[in-house]
Amino acid sequence: MKEKNPERKVAREEDSKQALEQKQEQAARAGATVEEPESAEAVSAAEPPASKERRFRQTDLPAHFIERRRRPRISTEQPPPAAPPRLDDYAAIIGQPELDEIRFLARHLRGKTVKMVNSTAVGGGVAEILNRLIPLMNELEIPTRWEVITGGNDFFEVTKGFHNALHGGDYNLTQQIRDIFMAYNEQNRQRMEFTEDLFVIHDPQPAGLVASKTQTRGRWIWRCHIDLSNPHQGVWDFLKPMIEQYDASIFSAPAFTRQLSIPQYLFYPSIDPLSEKNRELPEEYVNKVCDDFGIDRSRPVITQISRFDRLKDPVGVIEAYKLVKKYLDCQLVLAGGGATDDPEGAVVLQEVMDAAGDDPDVIILNLPPWSALEINALQRASTVIVQKSLKEGFGLTVTEGLWKQKPVVAGAVGGIPTQIIHKLTGVLVHSVEGCAYQIRYLLTHPEFAAQMGKNGREHAKENFLITVNLKRWLLLFQILLGMARPNDTI
Ligand code: UDP
Repeated sequence: MKEKNPERKVAREEDSKQALEQKQEQAARAGATVEEPESAEAVSAAEPPASKERRFRQTDLPAHFIERRRRPRISTEQPPPAAPPRLDDYAAIIGQPELDEIRFLARHLRGKTVKMVNSTAVGGGVAEILNRLIPLMNELEIPTRWEVITGGNDFFEVTKGFHNALHGGDYNLTQQIRDIFMAYNEQNRQRMEFTEDLFVIHDPQPAGLVASKTQTRGRWIWRCHIDLSNPHQGVWDFLKPMIEQYDASIFSAPAFTRQLSIPQYLFYPSIDPLSEKNRELPEEYVNKVCDDFGIDRSRPVITQISRFDRLKDPVGVIEAYKLVKKYLDCQLVLAGGGATDDPEGAVVLQEVMDAAGDDPDVIILNLPPWSALEINALQRASTVIVQKSLKEGFGLTVTEGLWKQKPVVAGAVGGIPTQIIHKLTGVLVHSVEGCAYQIRYLLTHPEFAAQMGKNGREHAKENFLITVNLKRWLLLFQILLGMARPNDTI
């Protein structure tokens, strides 16, 4: 999952500079030039490009749609956070027996204490999951503390570099970098107390805390949320001896793991069906959001929600839409965020606008980070959801689409094939043409699309809900505390 902590701005700017340099190099090879923004601030202070008015060619669309497509009504204020749900609130979704099973498993663990440590309290998928999971564990009377490691910009620059290197990027791992990583881990280790029964350390940033293991009686788990299938060898060689001191490791997909001397468990990422992003919405609200953005609900809507990032291939989605549009009337919604404070996002957004040209049926939305309800409504208003990524982590937008019972067309990369069983819970694609073909097929075979949506929802319910994740934690805790062996029935 992407690091989204504002404190990482320095590192992000560095990355963006590199991205710009790469783009300039590519452009130079292609005989073009790329303007360099004066500074990251200059870009972020500028008006978000999507809010600039687009020019549309003549169309029969009623004037109010055109007006909203030129100037979508995007909320400018962050709403107050909703109260976290209680366990009982999930009964209506997963059923009472499933809830009883969770309570039964938790009964054995009552009073056992857990500490979870990660590197950010806000922003990013890990913090989002912990925000929901930890109150539920506490409600089950498993006292769970969440601690966040601290560090200077130098530390977060190093961890951001590690993050990219572990995803296969180039990296120059110097002794100074190793020292910075170890020094901040040591500083945090000295500051923290380790008195709990179970320690769950998330991702590489705080991995060094395991040095305290020999002084504790608890069990130590390393929860890896990133894809380690193709890591930078030097960075992995540096981290591996730390990881192998843990009692167990957890990965998000079979393809993301590495050979390790400790047991490995598979925990899929999860979504919360009661969060603003995923909860049921009144039809009037969905209509209002469509109204605000100029979406015509009487015609098919194809949607991709994702950051404006080339690896999400938004321009490929526009090309696929154009192929579909030759045969079928439809609209394309490309909604994303982060393009205002990320210079590279702004560049990609401009590429998307250029690719969309003057077609009024391509609706481009640059949304602020507090748009969970709007994204939920957009997904619900969609006829087909697309996630045509070229590279992906797990792909939570796919999970969100499946949960909303939508036919999903997605690139066969990263964790997406775990979620999409081809032609059963969605369709996998490998090219623009394939994507266009599948969208056309779904738009012209609504019964098949509806059945696939139903299957997708069941698949998400079985595997990717936070309640499933909670159950896995309870089982793993029992195994590690010696209450159950993996092959025993509990
Ligand atoms: N998302 C969002 N606003 C946006 C774009 C995406 O809130 O403008 C959400 C999206 O709904 C999903 C998450 O961000 O929950 C993206 O997760 P995913 O695994 O699909 O991709 P990542 O951005 O982590 O690569």
